[in-house]
Amino acid sequence: MNLRSLLTNHSCNVCGKILLGVAYQDWSGNRVCEEHNKCFCSSCGRYYGAKATEIVSGEWLCENCKNNLPDKAGVEKTVSYIRTFYKQHGLEVQSHVVLKGVTAAQMARLYSSDARGYVELPPSSDGYHIIVRRYLARAVLAMVLSHELLHVWQYEHHIYPPAAIGEGFCNLGAYLIMQSIHTPTAMGQIELLNGDTDAIYGEGFRTMRTMYEQNGLPAVIAYMKSFR
Ligand SMILES: [Zn+2]
Ligand SMILES: [Zn+2]
Ligand SMILES: [Zn+2]
Repeated sequence: MNLRSLLTNHSCNVCGKILLGVAYQDWSGNRVCEEHNKCFCSSCGRYYGAKATEIVSGEWLCENCKNNLPDKAGVEKTVSYIRTFYKQHGLEVQSHVVLKGVTAAQMARLYSSDARGYVELPPSSDGYHIIVRRYLARAVLAMVLSHELLHVWQYEHHIYPPAAIGEGFCNLGAYLIMQSIHTPTAMGQIELLNGDTDAIYGEGFRTMRTMYEQNGLPAVIAYMKSFR
């Protein structure tokens, strides 16, 4: 380790000050001082670093996410990647899906401040509308859409399980998609999922992942269909 990397490891990722005493670390190993322990990228959840961009008021993107924002064609490619993956794994989503992008502030008003997406109910004549945060890097968008598409799958099959099972199942799908994408940002999304202490989203995910690891995906799908 040379002096530069030694100093980089010991300086705040946002302001560059040498870290003495208290330091905070995110899932990717970036470290910040106490003052900057709120500077999270609104897309990936890393500390956003000195080269961050405020894309809309209050939403900061790290350099990596800013460079990986999908255009319209990229969004469509992401949706079709997820649909194909699910179809190959016995989870075909039949419905047409319409995406509507909103800012974090709009999402907070429409649904909740920590949501990144939700499915609007009831479905419209042109299919299911998925409301999703704008300005998400491709892998993060895939994380959110792979979760929401499994809600659509559950609605299509009239499956209404307890919340922890329904959300845990959606998170299991998102986990499998992140494993298949396997970029650092995708693996970071898994880190965040693993660290989620929420009784429904976090514990529900771990319950469903254990079932998947022990019995395989067909057994998980059969289990979900028992809630019809
Ligand atoms: Zn700092
Ligand atoms: Zn980011
Ligand atoms: Zn959900």
